[in-house]
Amino acid sequence: LMLRVENLAVNYGMINAVRGVNFEVNKGEIVSLIGANGAGKSTILRTISGLIKPASGTLTYEGQNITKTNAQKIVQLGISHVPEGRHVFKGLSVRENLEMGAFLRKDRANIEADIQAVYDRFPVLGERQKQDASTLSGGEQQMLAMGRALMSKPKLLLLDEPSMGLAPIFIQEIFNIIQQIQAQGTTVLLIEQNAKMALSIASRGYVLETGKIVLSGTGQELLESDAVQKAYLGG
Ligand code: ATP
Repeated sequence: LMLRVENLAVNYGMINAVRGVNFEVNKGEIVSLIGANGAGKSTILRTISGLIKPASGTLTYEGQNITKTNAQKIVQLGISHVPEGRHVFKGLSVRENLEMGAFLRKDRANIEADIQAVYDRFPVLGERQKQDASTLSGGEQQMLAMGRALMSKPKLLLLDEPSMGLAPIFIQEIFNIIQQIQAQGTTVLLIEQNAKMALSIASRGYVLETGKIVLSGTGQELLESDAVQKAYLGG
């Protein structure tokens, strides 16, 4: 077991964004959390990465209680977060963005090889390594944000809506890359409005509605369930 989320509740002032959520991520899995806009998906990821504090509940990562752990320490423990909307550093080159991702690493000697590994995974980033990040297309910025997250050598990668705003061809490519990242040993917690893609690559999934989990199962079970088909797959 890599991550356990127990009875998690998160508020923004009077708004109860997450209302008693329980789920688990096992080592080696891709787990997808799906749900409509505003269901609380991003809030859960932000809480895991230490950016916001829960009102109640417990987060356990590799057997350690991380409920009150700060964001920098969370990265050092091996959890890396790719936020919605990418947020690459504009004004910095592609390469500099990747270097920023390695900021907290102590093993400086391996960083160059890891930058090369990112270029192998995302050849377009290698071709554009000297370009300002702001000159990349949306799909390329998504790749850069993922590459930057990988530079921290995460054990658990948190991905917030990686398909958002991308052309279909890029969406397919991003999902292929997520599967490769898993195959190479990184555990993935993915949140998506694109339920079909997210469930089709997931070992397991959870459906979130207004801050609560209403359904869970294997990716395949959820794809085939009537409730998911009606609410999220247009059928
Ligand atoms: P989205 O795909 O839009 O990000 P989501 O499922 O990730 O949807 P959240 O962003 O977690 O949902 O939002 C959950 C609820 O919390 C929503 O009602 C949202 O309006 C509210 N919310 C999110 N961020 C804030 C904030 N910074 N301040 C106040 N309310 C917020």
